Amino acid sequence: MNETKINWWNIDVGEDAVPSIAAAIANGHISQGPITAEFEAALAKLLGVPYTVCTTSGTMALSLSLLAMGVGPGDEVIMPDRTWVASANAALLLGAKVRLVDVLDGGLPIMDTSKIAATITPATKVIMPVHLNGRGVDMEGVLKIAKQYGLEVVEDACPSLGSQQKGRPVGTFARFGCFSLGMAKVLGTGQGGVVACHNENDWKLLSRIRNQGLSGTSMDERHDVRGSNFKFTDLQAALGLAQITSLKKRFEHQKKIHAIYAQNLQNTASLQFIPVDIAGGEIPLRAEGYCKERDRFIAEMGQRGVAVAPQSLNLSSYPFIGANKKEYPFAQRYSQTMLTLPSGPDQPLANVEKTVEIIHSIDHLF
Ligand SMILES: *Cc1c(COP(=O)(O)O)cnc(C)c1O
Repeated sequence: MNETKINWWNIDVGEDAVPSIAAAIANGHISQGPITAEFEAALAKLLGVPYTVCTTSGTMALSLSLLAMGVGPGDEVIMPDRTWVASANAALLLGAKVRLVDVLDGGLPIMDTSKIAATITPATKVIMPVHLNGRGVDMEGVLKIAKQYGLEVVEDACPSLGSQQKGRPVGTFARFGCFSLGMAKVLGTGQGGVVACHNENDWKLLSRIRNQGLSGTSMDERHDVRGSNFKFTDLQAALGLAQITSLKKRFEHQKKIHAIYAQNLQNTASLQFIPVDIAGGEIPLRAEGYCKERDRFIAEMGQRGVAVAPQSLNLSSYPFIGANKKEYPFAQRYSQTMLTLPSGPDQPLANVEKTVEIIHSIDHLF
């Protein structure tokens, strides 16, 4: 057949990181230390917040935030039906219960904030809006409801670093905002996550929980909050710092990929492209669409050398969530249908153009 081989994701952390990691090792900066602090300061600057706290993953950034809010067994955390299972697992790990909200009725897989109030019970403690793939949940709406009912808010902005809403980065509207530093995100440190926060007390609280609840540095210090080992490492921080300067270029590249798909996939029968509001300040992480016949689409593309990745099911599909998927009809449209087209900060634009060409060539089969 043909020689095309296009991966669905492409990120290159770059050779730049090698000298910084070698220097970290030479200086004995291996576990969490000064390079982590430097990386946290760089992330805070990028997000326009006074503090960030790095941890082992985006999922753990969410659990850490929920722990800091005192979430435990019996408490309920509200989140959208359509999200990656990590959002739910972060709450379930603490013994909390997940309550779901449908997505918008407007063709976007994003939480409908007008449906949050009906989900609130006396056990509700936290609202967790999820900014999926750079698309911001209406934060004004979320914060208004939270204030009205006296609830906490943590933003799952794991796949949305750099994306803005009304001129402000998503993940910086609520008390805590979490981002992933995993390799399928825009800034990858192997594994990793970060929490953005707005005041010294919260920063100290997160830092203590991250380090077994320790409140000082002496041997008789008190462990007066429940904690664990959520620490980051300087080796990861060195890898992250080396990429900070490439972020702007990566964001621009992702917008270019989005523009090629958006322009060329307007009238396709095989696939419906799901746009991101770039004019409004959003930055897409991946290129996404949904298909009625997803498996057949993926197979046809695969035969032509293009890897298309299926996306996960909605949370209500999983028995351990204990929800009825019929209650979330708009989210249903995206379960078993969504996929990721070849994208990523280092995906050559030629691959994107080739993918478009191949989609057009198979479109008559659908
Ligand atoms: C990636 C992601 C996470 C989890 O991040 P990890 O670093 O992989 O733990 C959580 N929520 C959403 C929406 C994500 O996309």
